[in-house]
Amino acid sequence: MTNPVENKIDLTALFKIGYGLYVVTSNDGKKDNGLIVNTVMQVTNTPNRIAVTVNKDNYSHDVIKSTGTMNVNCLTTEAPFKVFEAFGFVSGRNVNKFENCEPLRSDNGLVYLPRYINSYISLAVEQYVDLGTHGMFICSVTEAKVISNTESMTYAYYHANVKPKPQTETNKGYVCKICGYVYEGSSLPEDFVCPLCKHPASDFEKIK
Ligand code: FE
Repeated sequence: MTNPVENKIDLTALFKIGYGLYVVTSNDGKKDNGLIVNTVMQVTNTPNRIAVTVNKDNYSHDVIKSTGTMNVNCLTTEAPFKVFEAFGFVSGRNVNKFENCEPLRSDNGLVYLPRYINSYISLAVEQYVDLGTHGMFICSVTEAKVISNTESMTYAYYHANVKPKPQTETNKGYVCKICGYVYEGSSLPEDFVCPLCKHPASDFEKIK
């Protein structure tokens, strides 16, 4: 028998929530760092406050928690997949994500991306909310600049147009819904982690 409470929660309803995609930049005192998040939101306007939620597994979480400052870079629809690979699929713990780039800096000294963004917003952390797996930073705005009027990248646009399309005619197995990585095999191990983007088995779907 199915659980009647479980029946009331269709998790795909949550996919209908709209999101943007952002590169959040920070600096640990030695090097610049950046990560991709979809969890940026203006939560109040008098004064303006922005909430940014970051997974505790990300190096940036610890850096932002100790420095209390970050830049939110608003990605545009022109951002190619390589931007997501560079900032989303490797960790700033081991890699300098700005090694081959001459980044621009805002007044707070942090970098903002020279391309593929339509604005950046410099933030100062005012409150930290511990959400278990994630930390939510509630911030005031210290600087904000519009770079272009190109449309913002949404999560839906990324899934429809940016993420590589798997070769589903020739491949059998499971495809990562986040980055398009294909796992070839008849059953996906429950504890499988995507080697590209590190998302769990629950973010894979069977190729039909
Ligand atoms: Fe993936």
